[in-house]
Amino acid sequence: MITAKARAVDGPDKSFRAAEIKRRDLDSHDVLIEIKYAGICHSDIHTAHGEWGPVNYPLVPGHEIAGVVTAVGPNVSKYKVNDRVGVGCMVGSCGECENCRNGEEQYCLKGNIPTYAGVDQYGEPTQGGYSTHIVVEEDFVLRIPDHIELDVAAPLLCAGITTYSPLKHWGAGPGKKVAVVGMGGLGHMAVKIAHAMGAEVTVLSQTLNKKEDGLRFGADHYYATNDPETFNKLAGHFDLIINTVSANIDINAYFSLLTLDGTLVIVGAPGEPLSVQVFALSSRRRSFAASMIGGIRQTQEMLDFCAQHDIVPEIEVISADQIDEAYERVLSSDVKYRFVIDISTM
Ligand code: NAP
Ligand code: ZN
Repeated sequence: MITAKARAVDGPDKSFRAAEIKRRDLDSHDVLIEIKYAGICHSDIHTAHGEWGPVNYPLVPGHEIAGVVTAVGPNVSKYKVNDRVGVGCMVGSCGECENCRNGEEQYCLKGNIPTYAGVDQYGEPTQGGYSTHIVVEEDFVLRIPDHIELDVAAPLLCAGITTYSPLKHWGAGPGKKVAVVGMGGLGHMAVKIAHAMGAEVTVLSQTLNKKEDGLRFGADHYYATNDPETFNKLAGHFDLIINTVSANIDINAYFSLLTLDGTLVIVGAPGEPLSVQVFALSSRRRSFAASMIGGIRQTQEMLDFCAQHDIVPEIEVISADQIDEAYERVLSSDVKYRFVIDISTM
């Protein structure tokens, strides 16, 4: 067993504390990673606070992991010691079902193994990246391109792929009008990626406070959703809307912004159900869809795409003692645009 230092939380309203966790000895296809940086995703907060259902505490969140390989199992062929690598939201899947074979492991018919708050193939609870080391099967490890620094690489492993995947799937590109709702961790990546794909990008944020940033990230237009005029002006306008908001919003108001055959894709994941008005969709044959992270092959494609287009997230690096404070700031939309924990402070 390998001992790792970590930050764990013991309940929905508890603070983070220093902890020691065990990582398994390397199996034949396992890679040991010394974690250098871990991003803070809003999903970490939903999970730590028990908003998505019961959690087995103590919980070590973190699924935006960047680090360096320090050991490999005897049959590992893809990675060697000193390789710069990442791990995202999943660390395993059955590998045999139709979806796994098609490179859509996130939709594994037996359920993927989440990086934390899951149970691994050995029956042990999984613990995430707010820790110094992790052991992961090589098929779920990503290669970080040379000229992406590890601190900015971390958020790509969730915020990057979660926005890249639906943008690609629903054809964001030249001639397409794409709106991004909410410009936080996911949203600001969606803006950069959609712009690089060649789409005409509009940000729909609660206020105009971050307008300059949005335009700098590549948005062509920026509107405040607290101004009712926005919804009149943009009615029937967009081919694709990516909703990244972590809370429930009046989704029907956003359907009205779609053109004929337009699609609203929800990636934000509030715990409560939504109320959908059928006519807001049927009046223009609109579609309502949702998407969850992306497969391993596509995650590597996204990393290479970001390297090629010089896309990295905007981050604020924090120490391990600042996780609670960072959670508070994310919850008040005071994040520019991703907190990343410097694991050396652990
Ligand atoms: P985040 O950094 O907190 O960004 C969310 C943004 O939503 C905020 O910056 C804010 O943008 C907007 N917002 C927040 N509360 C709002 C409210 N009450 N009304 C309207 N807008 C509001 O969070 P994130 O890390 O990007 O994650 C966003 C959501 O995606 C979370 O629910 C997370 O769990 C989910 N997620 C899903 C997947 C997936 O696979 N589908 C993967 C990762 C994360 P403005 O300030 O611009 O208004
Ligand atoms: Zn995430």
